Amino acid sequence: MNHISIAIDGPSGAGKSTLARMTARHFGFLYVDTGALYRTVGLYVLRRGGDTKDPRAVEPLLPEIRVELKYDGAGIQRMILNGEDVSDDIRLPEVSMAASDVSAIPAVRAFLLETQRSLARRYDVIMDGRDIGTVVLPDAQVKIFLTASAQERARRRFLELQAKGVETDYDSVLRDIELRDKNDSGRAIAPLRPADDAVMLDTTEHDLEASFRLVCGIIEERRRDGR
Ligand code: C5P
Repeated sequence: MNHISIAIDGPSGAGKSTLARMTARHFGFLYVDTGALYRTVGLYVLRRGGDTKDPRAVEPLLPEIRVELKYDGAGIQRMILNGEDVSDDIRLPEVSMAASDVSAIPAVRAFLLETQRSLARRYDVIMDGRDIGTVVLPDAQVKIFLTASAQERARRRFLELQAKGVETDYDSVLRDIELRDKNDSGRAIAPLRPADDAVMLDTTEHDLEASFRLVCGIIEERRRDGR
């Protein structure tokens, strides 16, 4: 049986993960947060004291890394690194930058590609990331590219980190977002860009509930049209 795949791509803080999780619950699909895979690799390299930007430092570490995705009773994705649950550690700001660094290394992308594709072969998925519609699942039935202004994305990310008790300030969150945007869009391999057949959705002016309704509307319309 062919499974349905929905790709949600876009820059950091555009609301991808929250919206993808809500939408997956609504349609009964598996939600796959692919950024968490890059974060897990970034965390491992940081822990080993490697330079996250240097392919010669990162590549030899890849055979030591076993990344697994597990889902808890509430359907929340947990990241397991060599048997250890690192789901909380991978959310630290320094790991965000490490993830962005390692994600520009072709061997890292190749290392994580099959994990992502094999989930889409086994389940109906909503997968969020940067290159899902363009590289990982080019045949996805629905592709959405979510954006919002950098200032609005920084505001949302700042509130999220504050709620988790992570000490930070708005300006450094904004700087971090702008730097990651630059890294993610400017890299040679799988750069952040909308697929030709993606529906663009700017959420700057929409709250979560309104954005959720828009995303569900796009999915229903595309599926009705049989695209
Ligand atoms: O989505 P999230 O912020 O957790 O992703 C962390 C980093 O992983 C991003 O800044 C991006 O560089 C990288 N990433 C990627 N391709 C994906 C998902 C994430 O390059 N599909």
